Amino acid sequence: MSEGGAEALVGLGSNLDGPAHQIDTALDMLDAIDETRVLATSSLYRSAPLGGIEQPDYVNAAALVMTGLDARTLLEQLQAIERSRGRERGEAHWGPRVLDLDLLAYGGLSIDEPGLAVPHPGIASRNFVLLPLREIAPDFEIPGLGRVRDLPVNRSEPRISRIA
Ligand code: AMP
Repeated sequence: MSEGGAEALVGLGSNLDGPAHQIDTALDMLDAIDETRVLATSSLYRSAPLGGIEQPDYVNAAALVMTGLDARTLLEQLQAIERSRGRERGEAHWGPRVLDLDLLAYGGLSIDEPGLAVPHPGIASRNFVLLPLREIAPDFEIPGLGRVRDLPVNRSEPRISRIA
């Protein structure tokens, strides 16, 4: 690990092909990324799908990692893990998926470039992101939003429960 590595937050979701197993496998694969160590992982949560498409519930989790990679390289590694688990291009945006990995935050950086937005725009509005993050990184300062522990839960969202 190079000096000056960054802490990053990764969100995980799956609702196909054994979702809990998909998440566990993805967490192992995160820890195997070059120059990247998983520091903490959340419980698994079950959440009802958003977006109005009929599909199974999701299993969600989050991880705190320390990485020597820059944000874009880390996101490319996350996408390589998605592909290795059979994630296909061209899936409906809100449709079912074997594995979805989001780079939720990367240190104190704000980046808005083609193909890379951090903090991830959905971070503050989705309970399936907020609840796992509160467990593992309550003091993480999300640029422009404040500390994870201070971000309010969205009361209008569908049910979410901790499963493991
Ligand atoms: P999805 O997998 O459906 O959540 O969306 C993937 C697309 O979002 C890819 O084209 C990524 O390049 C883009 N993207 C932009 N910023 C991020 C981020 N912080 N984490 C994950 N995907 C991102």
